[in-house]
Amino acid sequence: MTPRTMKAAVAHRFGEPLRIEEVPVPVPSRGEVLVKIVCTGVCHTDVHAVDGDWPAKPNPPFIPGHEGVGVVAALGEGVENLKVGDAVGIAWLHDACGHCEYCITGWETLCETQHDSGYSVDGSFAEYAIGNAAYVARLPQDVDFAAMAPILCAGVTTYKGIRETEARPGEWLAISGIGGLGHLAIQYATAMGLQVVAVDVAEDKLALARKLGASATVDARQPKAVEEVLDVTGGGAHGVLVTAVSPPAFSQALGFTRRRGTMSLVGLPPGDFATPIFDVVLKRLTIRGSIVGTRKDLAEAVAFATEGKIVPTIERRKLEDVNDVLQGLRDGNIQGRVVLDIGTP
Ligand code: NAD
Ligand code: ZN
Ligand code: ZN
Repeated sequence: MTPRTMKAAVAHRFGEPLRIEEVPVPVPSRGEVLVKIVCTGVCHTDVHAVDGDWPAKPNPPFIPGHEGVGVVAALGEGVENLKVGDAVGIAWLHDACGHCEYCITGWETLCETQHDSGYSVDGSFAEYAIGNAAYVARLPQDVDFAAMAPILCAGVTTYKGIRETEARPGEWLAISGIGGLGHLAIQYATAMGLQVVAVDVAEDKLALARKLGASATVDARQPKAVEEVLDVTGGGAHGVLVTAVSPPAFSQALGFTRRRGTMSLVGLPPGDFATPIFDVVLKRLTIRGSIVGTRKDLAEAVAFATEGKIVPTIERRKLEDVNDVLQGLRDGNIQGRVVLDIGTP
């Protein structure tokens, strides 16, 4: 039997710590499932949500979290593709309209009426969360819950972002920002046959990058960082993935994008960066945004992990530690991903 109330970390006011509270267990509506959360990753997007960083803000009170893995505990009316006990994931894309121009062309991540987990609908920093049966991630029954959690956002986002650079096997991918997203990006890129140069502002992140297979690392704080990347890659990286939570990192990354190369923007620090028109035109650069991934991208990203090609570096903490973890992300001193242990399958 599902209990009536559950423990959740709730955001009441932007910039304030989350409060651990007892709240009602949500009831799945038509087409939805109730998911018993086993664990959840903590993404830097949760910091942006809690701090109200972005132009479109969530509506407090809300429960953040969009890297939730668990099992289906109850079915809403009409759900036929899932059964109680199935292992599923709560990802950023909670649902989309299904019939707009973007939804019908396999770009549901661009749907203008989408709902997002832990942002416009309650997310996974709780013992239970609602998922849409047509949008939750399908996971193998024997899934390693903690290792799978970071794949739900950091994994799919970087897998998609790398593909959006159009870099081909054997070519160079530069990754700026080796945090939760970046450390998985190194592994996806390597599995996809790309050569990786990793860029970050912290020596411990660069050490992790080398351990995970980066061929070269560059300290972004060095005055000659751009020249170093150009040197290592023989004229610039064919693809550049920017996950760094810092606008200057975007300007810097444009500088080490190879002629005809593509820079894929994934990090979402509030702010802007200057785009030198002359360089973009004469080098025929492409600057492209990339937002999470579709359900198909997610299934592919999960498959890489299930095949053992992606092994997240995780630190396991309790739900009660969530404010500490969010502060660690703000301060830039979290290695890989923190996964909060919440319940049993
Ligand atoms: P994180 O805090 O784990 O990692 C950020 C990394 O950036 C850290 O390693 C930090 O040292 C590094 N960094 C900071 N300044 C830098 C600089 N000037 N140059 C190079 N590296 C620098 O965060 P995360 O969870 O990996 O998320 C990263 C960003 O991606 C966040 O803004 C998040 O909101 C965004 N995000 C976007 C999507 C999307 O779909 N586009 C999805 C998930 C997360
Ligand atoms: Zn995320
Ligand atoms: Zn739509």
